[in-house]
Amino acid sequence: MAQSPSCPDPGFIAGDKYLDFEIIRVACLPEIRQTVYEIMHLPTKARILHLHNVDSENLYAVCFRTPPSDSTGLPHILEHSVLAGSEKYPLKDAFNELHRGSLQTFINAFTYPDKTIYPVASQVRKDFFNLARVYTDLVLHPRLLRETFLQEGHHLEFSDPDNVNSELLISGVVYNEMKGAYSSPDSLMYKAIQENLYPDTVYRNDSGGAPHIIPTLTYEKFLAFHRAYYSPSNARFFLYGDISTRDCLDFLQEMLHGFSEIPVESRIEAQKRWAAPRSVSGFYPIGIDENLQAKTVINMAWMLAENLDYETVILLEIVSWALVGSAAGPLRKALVDSGLGEDLSPVTGLEKDFRQLAFVVGLRGTESDRAPVIETLVLDILTQLVETGFERDLIEGALHQVEFHGKEIRRGVYPYGIALMGRVFHTWLYDGDPLAGLNFPVLIDDIRQRWQGEPDLFQRVLRQWFLENPHRLLSVMKPSRTYQGEQEAKYRNQLNAIAAELEPSDRRAVAADAARLRRFQTEADSPETMASLPVIGVGDLSPEIDVIPSQTEIPNDLTILSHDLFTNGIAYLHMAFDISHIPDELQPCLPLLCKLMTGLGAGTSSYAELSKRIALKTGGIGIHLASGLCVGGQDTWQRMIVHMRMLYRNIPDAMSILEDILFRGNLSEMTRMKELVFEGRNNLHAAVVPSGHIFAKRSAAASLSLPAYREEQWHGRSQLLYVNALAEKWEANMAKFPTDIADLRQRVIQRKGLVLSLTADEAGLQLAEEALGSVLVGLSGSVSPAREPSLHGFSRRMGIAIPAQVSYVAESFPAPTYGSDLAAPLFVLSRLLSNGYLYKKIRVEGGAYGGMCQYDPTCGLFSFLSYRDPHLERTLTVYEEALRFANQRGLSEEEIQKAVIGSIGALDRPMDPVGRGFAAMVRYFSGLTDEERQKFRRAVLSMNHEALSKGGLKYLDRVKNKAAVAVYAGGERMKQANNVLDPPLEIETLI
Ligand SMILES: [Zn+2]
Repeated sequence: MAQSPSCPDPGFIAGDKYLDFEIIRVACLPEIRQTVYEIMHLPTKARILHLHNVDSENLYAVCFRTPPSDSTGLPHILEHSVLAGSEKYPLKDAFNELHRGSLQTFINAFTYPDKTIYPVASQVRKDFFNLARVYTDLVLHPRLLRETFLQEGHHLEFSDPDNVNSELLISGVVYNEMKGAYSSPDSLMYKAIQENLYPDTVYRNDSGGAPHIIPTLTYEKFLAFHRAYYSPSNARFFLYGDISTRDCLDFLQEMLHGFSEIPVESRIEAQKRWAAPRSVSGFYPIGIDENLQAKTVINMAWMLAENLDYETVILLEIVSWALVGSAAGPLRKALVDSGLGEDLSPVTGLEKDFRQLAFVVGLRGTESDRAPVIETLVLDILTQLVETGFERDLIEGALHQVEFHGKEIRRGVYPYGIALMGRVFHTWLYDGDPLAGLNFPVLIDDIRQRWQGEPDLFQRVLRQWFLENPHRLLSVMKPSRTYQGEQEAKYRNQLNAIAAELEPSDRRAVAADAARLRRFQTEADSPETMASLPVIGVGDLSPEIDVIPSQTEIPNDLTILSHDLFTNGIAYLHMAFDISHIPDELQPCLPLLCKLMTGLGAGTSSYAELSKRIALKTGGIGIHLASGLCVGGQDTWQRMIVHMRMLYRNIPDAMSILEDILFRGNLSEMTRMKELVFEGRNNLHAAVVPSGHIFAKRSAAASLSLPAYREEQWHGRSQLLYVNALAEKWEANMAKFPTDIADLRQRVIQRKGLVLSLTADEAGLQLAEEALGSVLVGLSGSVSPAREPSLHGFSRRMGIAIPAQVSYVAESFPAPTYGSDLAAPLFVLSRLLSNGYLYKKIRVEGGAYGGMCQYDPTCGLFSFLSYRDPHLERTLTVYEEALRFANQRGLSEEEIQKAVIGSIGALDRPMDPVGRGFAAMVRYFSGLTDEERQKFRRAVLSMNHEALSKGGLKYLDRVKNKAAVAVYAGGERMKQANNVLDPPLEIETLI
């Protein structure tokens, strides 16, 4: 993504007419490097916003306001269904074909509580317009076949398709997806707050769909919803990137041809303000063996200002950050220090995706009878702050954070354009000024000036919107061992009621319908249908790799890598300590060391003071662990990586914070240490159900390579068991734990083997290198190597019981690293199977939310995964058959070409400057040279049937007997599966 400091010259002025469009407004925003055009399509009154800049990753998004009138999940089911083909592109799964066969850098669809957005992005112009063209046609002219509705929404079927007297089941992709969401405590809490804070608005309905209500949705209502809301007159088109406004309008002219204005009633009404606070309580599922103590979550939520009142919104953002945004936030600190709960509720902070904002704060790991005490504590703190005001440094820290993030060129998982799009829709969706919240650097300057004139500005905000605001909700979520069973009984009763009504002829009709659906799903699209999709060819792909500038210096036993890149005045530092010498029994402790080093106090600063300094002078300091195989697969690297981002002007201050953290960390703040340990345990525990497939992969792969073993030890269930044991017996452990941690830190923070990586432009690199000197002076010492651990402690058939209504099934094979001739075939094969066979068998026919396979050369793994899967033993059979299918039936040339294009798309995924610096460092660790990467790319580009079958498939067949399986699912479900699985799963409970 190319970036420069200015905004492009405008190509139109306000009032200009071009084709069917009128340019309403043109604004140059040099602070965020954008020239913005607000445009109207006159025949339909469709609204268009173009953010013109120099970013080659162009983004196109269509948004419709889709207020749900019930919880049948209509907007969500429609979101899935429009992507299943239009009249012009009648592919069964157009989304999947675009996803796999284009150079998209982002393609997705999102259902929000009040809107649905369809974004696509690409760095290649031809590809970008292909994607945008098909996406527009899909949303405006979808086929919406009955079969698609049944598949994505809900349908009845018999557990044995050939026996109309076998058990009746409800299936459907969204149905299963939402059953997964309704098992997750975090989403249940979020839902309770949304529905009860805005009870008189559309937000009382779940746009995603409540599993017990989804089956009441009819096909007719589904079609009517599309007719009502998916017209250009109800659409907002958002475009972003370096393609000119004129070219964008030429494209839209063609897309909107033939449409005229139709009246749409989709306004989102505001919630009426309450005169008095309210409360609500509910349950979330835990395992049947878990104890109930310290598992309640208590939240307080306020309904705040309207998104349209942007000045207040920014003030509320700053206040929210000051209250809970850092460890020094007085509200956060008072809650965690109170001992009333284990740590802060995960649903904490400002929520902006509603017409009126909400602020939520609370405690996790508490008891329901503490609700009144917690409520009083929160109100006391707020009263105190209204009287005394915030500490100046807290507000300065908040302002610095906004300035920093406004300046930073950031592309994480999402394109940069997506972040700007989010800001635009917060006002635009409610008919406000789309630019109101866009130019945040200027907005922040205005606030800074206002604050100078009105020193009590933030106190007044706090009084008005928190203390004197009766629209407040107290939400208590209690753990329940029976919740899961009750939910399942509810679904079963619902089905039994339906089954009881069915006459024999109805039963035959259900079976026939299901059979028809299955036939529809298994029939491939015809070659002519496939050819309707505009595609790019392998010839359109660049044969060259992207080279990241990298200089290496090796001054006495350390290595400095520097990457000269435009970073808009921000310097990035990675400091990677070698941890391969840390003995195996101490390795599980490393994740906590990372957390404690930045979470506790250091030097003369308490943890709260340190957190304030970090917010004032850096864009964040983080520490994490990473490991991988070196090219060739013989050696490994294992690192603890300290990462810091800072504005050039703050480099010296930031380095002195870093020195304090590395050398003067204070390990005696025991209360805080306990909070961090419990928070670490709770976060990891809460992550299991939403990312069950990742945890299953970690468990399966742990015995296959050293990096995979470390991954399980640091981030998987093994880590959860370790940190849980530490927390459960904290009183007994706390005497020795600080000494162990201090000793471990001593062993890690060594000069020997240290690698530093700096990313900035030339001026920034020089400043950073100079300032680093003082940090490096403090380092000394040498290391002695540790013995390699034995990887045989893990079962190869593991079943982990979790409280979930769906399964996560993983199977991993050992695989070679980069440098092997097999790397390119395995890479292409993983995409081919993911988007082809597995997608079809596990998602489309099996009703799971996802089925995929991954080749991970860094850990030396080839894995099959399923996500929110109603099946278990069938899925394992599908994995087996996937390889056999590919082997026997062969792979068509078209499929291979598509997989090659998708693979190149994945290799060329755009990275932000810090991402590029990091990637270069990891390549350095693994010894992956640009020559090797170029060789790999060429092998991918010239992939053919022979290389895939003689290389990839043959290899996987050879290592079949080394595969390891892990399943995360309900305990009963796995026992049932064990009746047919041979060998059976060795079942254990999660903790
Ligand atoms: Zn979905």
